[in-house]
Amino acid sequence: MEPKDSTRNEAFKGFTNDACPFMPCHQGVKREFNCLFCYCPLIAYECPGPYRVITDRHGMRRKDCSPCNLPHNGYLQSWSFIQKWLERPVLWDGHEQTRYQVDLPEDAEPRRGGPQGETD
Ligand code: SF4
Repeated sequence: MEPKDSTRNEAFKGFTNDACPFMPCHQGVKREFNCLFCYCPLIAYECPGPYRVITDRHGMRRKDCSPCNLPHNGYLQSWSFIQKWLERPVLWDGHEQTRYQVDLPEDAEPRRGGPQGETD
């Protein structure tokens, strides 16, 4: 087995579970459907996704990510997207999505004006 830091195999960045009964769970995915982030790592953090806010029966504000396909659209693109937004995670405080919606960026890079207005 090859040491992790010298492998050139990038298969760990994504996979598709074609047997999943919920496939396709999100619309608009044009590349490989990445199931690796089925539970989005950004759920508790600021993100650029087009989520809606719902209040659950316990009064907790939660993201409804149904219209978002950013963690699923392409193995490498969605991997890069998640890594980028986890570099400096900012806890989500329950606010509505106020930034413009992201339309599946080709390079998976968050647009300028990311968390806390930073510009990378
Ligand atoms: S809106 Fe998209 S990127 Fe944001 S937490 Fe939900 S699934 Fe993740």
